[in-house]
Amino acid sequence: MANLGQYFVAVIGGAISGSVSAEILADRGIRVAVIEQNNRPYGKIEDGLPRWHVEQRKQEYARIDSRLRKPNVYFVPSTKLGRDLDFEDLCKNWGFSAVILANGAWRDRDLGVPGAADFVDKGLVYQNPFIYWYNHKNEKSYTGPRYETPDEAVVVGGGLASIDVVKVLQLENYERAMKARGIETNIHELEKGIPAACKAHGVRPEDMGVKGCLLIYRRREQDMPLAQPPDNPTPEQIAKTEQVRQKMLRLARDRYLFRFQERRLTTGLVVENGHLAGIKVAETKIEGRRAEPIPGSEQELRAPLVISSIGSVPEVIPGVVMKGDYYAFTETEDFPRYSAADRVYGVGNVVTGQGNIRVSLVHSQQVTNHLIENYMGIGDGEPDIVALQAPAEERAAVQAEGVIERLESLTPLSSEELAKVEQRVRSLQEKAGCTCDYDAWIAKVTPPDLE
Ligand SMILES: Cc1cc2nc3c(=O)[nH]c(=O)nc-3n(C[C@H](O)[C@H](O)[C@H](O)COP(=O)(O)OP(=O)(O)OC[C@H]3O[C@@H](n4cnc5c(N)ncnc54)[C@H](O)[C@@H]3O)c2cc1C
Repeated sequence: MANLGQYFVAVIGGAISGSVSAEILADRGIRVAVIEQNNRPYGKIEDGLPRWHVEQRKQEYARIDSRLRKPNVYFVPSTKLGRDLDFEDLCKNWGFSAVILANGAWRDRDLGVPGAADFVDKGLVYQNPFIYWYNHKNEKSYTGPRYETPDEAVVVGGGLASIDVVKVLQLENYERAMKARGIETNIHELEKGIPAACKAHGVRPEDMGVKGCLLIYRRREQDMPLAQPPDNPTPEQIAKTEQVRQKMLRLARDRYLFRFQERRLTTGLVVENGHLAGIKVAETKIEGRRAEPIPGSEQELRAPLVISSIGSVPEVIPGVVMKGDYYAFTETEDFPRYSAADRVYGVGNVVTGQGNIRVSLVHSQQVTNHLIENYMGIGDGEPDIVALQAPAEERAAVQAEGVIERLESLTPLSSEELAKVEQRVRSLQEKAGCTCDYDAWIAKVTPPDLE
């Protein structure tokens, strides 16, 4: 067996998948440079899960920290592949034994209507920057784009992330409306349910003057990807899953008071004075997984803001070959190998976005549904993000083991080669100002007012 201490691997991205892979490799003696674009490595946990999950996010941060502070892990923050590092250069010239892409899915899937790109931030907003803003907007040091949350916005979506977007809009609107009436409330109280929060203050939601945002979905409500059937489901299991989805939507609407239209496909834009004033939608006919627009059914949905929340895919990185919306990985989920270069692999969301969630790897269907209900704020327990991330961790671990197996068949680096790679990694750390240990770095870059 090869001496694993003679390998040096670069992992791009330090969140769940990156940190799980780094830990598995480092525990086997392999040196690992974790190259992360942000100061803090928490990825979707910090910037994608809405900030009302305060304690649960902290727990997940601690788990990522415990992996990244391990011996053999070299954390390189504030360094973005494609901006600060060239992909081809990294793969060919840096001397790493392997490169693992664990950079997640941060590009919103395109709304799919010609001309929509011209209206980004002019009436159209995508989910990823919107939730990023929402999570960081109250920090003094936040300098990114700022978004409005007007009443009666339209959200295009249907999945869990679109429910998060809808909740943000509803919580913001009710908080504003209640404060305007002299009622002190906050997102944490409202997140437990808007009717309950109103009741606690002796008012009725319908008297707050909020009309509510509208969520549109192209298929039927029972098709919404909130709950998933098991692998190879029976007709009964499909029917049961559809009922669960309908129940989840109903409970979410009862608690957050948003409007919903099923079978609506975005077909065009409503533009006024160079600004998006709404979208055109057609009713759809559902046949299997297909949602076909019904001719003549088109109508305008006017809205002060349209938020598109129809999925996330990996960002385009110069030099990385794409296959559609994804990087060119060969198709085995357990060991995704990048097909356009040797010794480059993928782990986590970067491989398939969030679409292929194999919950059955870790939890039963019933447990998963319960976890998701609690996550959505409609269950009878506390959200448990750690348990929800277990499938992602499990998958990253399997993929990292595959990389180790592959490494064992490669020629180890000589001590000189190892020292050279280490020197280059150290100089990247220096450039990022991260010459101290991992915990000291995190303490230094954590905003004091981070929520
Ligand atoms: C309710 C809920 C349930 C979920 N259930 C599941 C599930 O069952 N299974 C599942 O797989 N997932 C599930 N997810 C999704 C889950 O959030 C993700 O799988 C997981 O957090 C993704 O982790 P990741 O490390 O792959 O990606 P990310 O968290 O996106 O991390 C990627 C990291 O890479 C960094 N990065 C990005 N680009 C670059 C670059 N160019 N250079 C350097 N660094 C870069 C980012 O800053 C980030 O830190 C669920 C999510 C929710 C909200």
